[in-house]
Parts: sequence; structure tokens; C-alpha cells
Amino acid sequence: MRVTQTHGMGADSAAWLTGVLLGELPFPHDLADLTVVTAMVGDESEATRDAMTAHMLPLMQAHGVRYVQVARASMSDEDGIVILSDTRPSDPNRKPDPYRMVMRGAVALSDEMFAAGTIPQTSSRKCSHKWKGWVLDRWAEQEYGSAARLHVVGFAAEETDRRDRDEGYSLATPGKQPWYPLIDAGWDRDRCLTELHRWYGFEWPRSCCGFCPYQAGPDIARMIRRWSAEPQQVRTAIGLERNARSLNPRMTLFRDRSAADIARRAGLGELVDQAAAELDARPAELYEVRRIYRRRGDRRDSSGRGWLLGPDPSDKGTDVWRSLRAIATGTRAGMLELLAAEQVTRGGTIETVDGVPRLVIERAAPPYPTTEFYLTVAVAGATKERPAFDELWRFVHRLDLPRQLDALSPTG
Ligand code: SF4
Repeated sequence: MRVTQTHGMGADSAAWLTGVLLGELPFPHDLADLTVVTAMVGDESEATRDAMTAHMLPLMQAHGVRYVQVARASMSDEDGIVILSDTRPSDPNRKPDPYRMVMRGAVALSDEMFAAGTIPQTSSRKCSHKWKGWVLDRWAEQEYGSAARLHVVGFAAEETDRRDRDEGYSLATPGKQPWYPLIDAGWDRDRCLTELHRWYGFEWPRSCCGFCPYQAGPDIARMIRRWSAEPQQVRTAIGLERNARSLNPRMTLFRDRSAADIARRAGLGELVDQAAAELDARPAELYEVRRIYRRRGDRRDSSGRGWLLGPDPSDKGTDVWRSLRAIATGTRAGMLELLAAEQVTRGGTIETVDGVPRLVIERAAPPYPTTEFYLTVAVAGATKERPAFDELWRFVHRLDLPRQLDALSPTG
């Protein structure tokens, strides 16, 4: 039976693999059939690279365990994945690579986030799926097809909810048989960290992107230690947040706390300023940002020609449509000059949030639906709009809301 471990480089993965290779965890299979595979997002810390290089690579090499590193080939799914390194390729035309870490491919998650003017959302793990899960699935398809194999998932003992969600998904994939050996062994995260400390003599670093929004909970002190040790991680996190806040001032990296604020309070204010300077050096665009805050229950009518409103004008629900349109491209300084010039012709008010100005032309206010409209400067490439946006925008602008009844459709 072939066995694959998807190795996230964190404590759970490292503890299982070390435990198996040191004979402290059961592995009732042939080690020659074990393949360890990591999907590279491109924004991991140097501490993770160092720990992998100093400990996991030599251990895998000593036991002849195959190690594969894969990544997205581009932002587009159509381009598939690239093999960054494979120490024992199944393709006879490919030479074995040495045991070394290749921490990023041609593109990284932060590239996508800068171009889209956004940050990872804690409401979903879309980034993890797109940059890890999807990549590993494509690799497994190429490698195994529908052949039977065991798939080791390193969830710790307390992660039974994640296992339950993963199990159904895994079993739906032809040939894939999930195995959760840390849960079977009763090793929780603390036990994994304790064993790693016993084996290697230091605290195994958390494996995550430097801007991961999940790292600032009870573990915030560790995040600040990581940030203090790796300034580029802070600059990327702050730059992403600052750019996203240009397009939506509510977008802070850590729920109600901004990364910039946390960094300043931690004495890393100099890095915040450097992040702003790095952002200034990127090609920029002047954007028209429009949003429609829809009313709960609204929908297109069945003929597809108009819209029906939900019953309660005060209930905005959760659906917000956004349109980003670039109207000029250049340097950030040039775009900021244009922004100021636009006020002369369009009116509106310049507002500055965290050092980022925007020209507010329309503010959102109940009743719903309602719209907001402003101009701002952000990194180039974020233009995005759903096809029906303009139609709904015009519809909302034609409404005379205080006089609206429950159902309306546009005329003309
Ligand atoms: S570590 Fe965090 S930011 Fe990076 S891919 Fe995973 S969830 Fe997203």
C-alpha cells in the first residue's frame, strides 16, 4: 500500500514523521512506500525553512523517504501545478532532486493578495484550499490516478471536527483512504510540541504565512517574536493590509485589530513605515470603488429583467456587491495627485484612514439597498466587477426608498 503524508511543515506534521522515523509511532507499512509532500504557498517564515532543513530533511534522507514539494504554476487553475523538487520522481525522465527546501514557486499567495487588493479572510480558508489543498489534490491525481493509497493527515488529537469534515471529502476522491494517526495515537498539539522539543531541543516553529489571520489569537506573543525575527514578514503583512484598506478601510488583518497597530505597539513602528515605502514603490492605479449593500431577501425576478426587494428595508443581510474599476495607472505619487484633482471636478470629501486618503462621493446609509462610492489609490491589477453589477447599481439609484413597497421591479 502506498502512503502519502501531506506535510504542512508545522508541529503536527513534524511530530508524526519524526515519531515514525524514530520508531516511536506505529507505521505498519514499508517506509519505501511512504511519500511526503508539501504544497508551497511562498510566504512561510525562514524559521520553518531552517527547522525543515536542519531536522526533517536529514531524517527523511537517512531513511530514504521520498520528499516532494509542489506549488501552483500561476494564479490560474488552468496552468496547473509545478513540481519544485522530488527526491525520487516516478517520472523516469526527471532526475532526483537533492534534499533541500524550495519555499516558493513562480507565484506566492501574497502576490495574489496584492494584485486583488485583499487579505485572507477568517470567515473561510479559501486561501488554504487554493494554495495547498487544490495543489496537493492535483499532484495526487497526477501521481496516483485512482490507485488505492493511504493519505496521512496530521490533525492533532483535539482536531476531531476537522477530521470529520475532511473524511467525507477524502473518501469521495477515488482511491484515497484517509488516515489520522495523531488522533489514533491521542497526540494533541501540546504533546506534539513536547515530543519535538525532546527530540530537537527547541520549540518547533508555527508553520504559516507571515500574514496569516489565524495566528494572532492566544498565540499573539509568539507571532510578535516571529515578526521581530523576520522583518520582511512584517512588511509583507502590513503592506497587504494597507493596500486592502485602501479599497476597504474595514479590512484589518486580525478581526478588530490592524496588523499596523499591533506592530507599532510591539515596537516595530519602523517596519510599518518601511512597509508603506515598499507599497509606494509598486505600480498603482486610481480606482473607482462602488458597493451595493443589498437588502435581505432581494433577488432577480423570474423573468431576469428586474429585481424584487426583500420585505424589510432596515435589514441589510450579508450580501454586498463590489465593483473596482481602474481609471488611471502610474506611480502611487502620481495617482494621489490625480485623486486630489478629481475632487475639483467630482466634489466629495477626502478622508484619510491610517495614512491612506480616499475621495468619498457617496456614503452608504439605511434603508437598504444602499450604495457607496469613492475613489482611492491601490496596487495595480485589482479591477473586478460581476456582470450584473451596473444593472443593480442603476436599479438601486432609481429607487425612491422611503416610498417603496415590498416588491419592485425596474421600469425603463
Ligand atoms: S497559513 Fe493562513 S494565510 Fe497562509 S494559506 Fe494557510 S490559512 Fe491562508
